[in-house]
Amino acid sequence: MTNEELKQIKLYVLEELAKIYTSTSMNLWLKPMRVVSVEGTSVTVSFPQSKKTFVETTYYETIRLKFSEVIGLPIELKIISDEEEAELLPELEQKVDSAYKIRFNPEYTFENFVVGKSNQLAQSAALAVARQPAELNNPLFLYGPSGLGKTHLLFSIVNEIRKNHPNYNILYVTGEEFTNELIDSLAVKKPMLFREKYRNLDVLLVDDIQFIAGKMSVQEEFFHTFDSLFKLNKQIILASDCAPKDINNLEDRLKSRFVMGLVADIQPPDFELRVAIFKRKARDFGYELDNDVLYFLAGVITTNIRQIEGALKKLKAHTFITGETCDVFVAKEVLNEFFAAENSKESIIDKVFDYAEKRYGVKREDIKSTRRTADIIAARHYAIYLIRKTTNLSQSAIAKLFNKKDHTTVINSISFIEKKMQNEPSFEREIKMVIAELIG
Ligand code: ADP
Ligand code: MG
Repeated sequence: MTNEELKQIKLYVLEELAKIYTSTSMNLWLKPMRVVSVEGTSVTVSFPQSKKTFVETTYYETIRLKFSEVIGLPIELKIISDEEEAELLPELEQKVDSAYKIRFNPEYTFENFVVGKSNQLAQSAALAVARQPAELNNPLFLYGPSGLGKTHLLFSIVNEIRKNHPNYNILYVTGEEFTNELIDSLAVKKPMLFREKYRNLDVLLVDDIQFIAGKMSVQEEFFHTFDSLFKLNKQIILASDCAPKDINNLEDRLKSRFVMGLVADIQPPDFELRVAIFKRKARDFGYELDNDVLYFLAGVITTNIRQIEGALKKLKAHTFITGETCDVFVAKEVLNEFFAAENSKESIIDKVFDYAEKRYGVKREDIKSTRRTADIIAARHYAIYLIRKTTNLSQSAIAKLFNKKDHTTVINSISFIEKKMQNEPSFEREIKMVIAELIG
């Protein structure tokens, strides 16, 4: 099987898993999966050493089932660590080169990005950069909560530049991939290969750059990557879930560089824009929906546009199978799942408070109050951190949950817990276990 085919299988399997698991579980545990080989009915996949045991104990059977479904035969699954995978490869160096092929996502374009008040600044900045790379707005920094189109805009830039400058050396990576690749290159003692690759680009896009925060050597390397590209007048585009100043544990010298060009935020779409996006997605999907159904959907799905695709697929399949026309009542029934998903966010928050109450022996009313005894403060940090890590609530939404006016409380809690985790391995293990239980 070729690398391309292995990658395709992986994408299908991840798509299936994403239907069952939260995006946090996907990002934290499942997406780092690599398909090492498919030989007959034995499939070998690898995960980073640090994740392997947890993945194996938690997800083994589901991963095996999904591979069986995708391949169409019951398979035997073997999970190995990336270190074991490296031993399998005859040439370690090859790994650095081939593991991180340039990605291409032709479906995300400016043409199918619907513009409204909340994303207009980000869209026009992205378009300007795509039309005239490294002339305006360098670096471009896009930020906003999950599911609002940052990655879509990044790939739109890639596609647009590729059209006009076919010879440009363009690289899109996530902060996590940058990190893993750097670590791999250090492990095989080939940091030069890494540097050569990153410093010879015309355009570098790093998605979810917040991932590098708190990792000293990665920030150091990124700082030099940034500077050498910037000095050569190459375009840099970054995306993150919050503004540079709000990224916890990010070095100041990086923060100050990230705001040197243009910083543009994406806000949650208002009702009108949601209707427009949903209409467009339905059309792209070959599925016309009445306005009242669109209004209904736009009323239900409010915070994350990503959900719409699942919703449309479900609706389409349902109406196809039953032959019913899709009116509001049908939509309501079919999409119960989405209400359930909203509830489950609430139930995660509820569980977090349960944990915090038990661990610190305080009441949730006190955790949410302004009282400041040591136990209450500790419980508050703990609860805020867990909610931030297990839901997609924005920092200000979390602040509101704790009756705080602004999100600095949230930032403080996160850096407090992160420090404590760094200093106390047992605490770090505990937090990781709790997070795994909450999102599992
Ligand atoms: P983020 O990177 O901000 O988490 P994505 O770029 O992955 O979000 O967007 C999630 C989904 O929503 C994608 O399928 C994307 O195409 C879609 N989407 C978001 N905003 C828009 C928009 N303005 N127009 C069309 N599709 C959008
Ligand atoms: Mg994204």
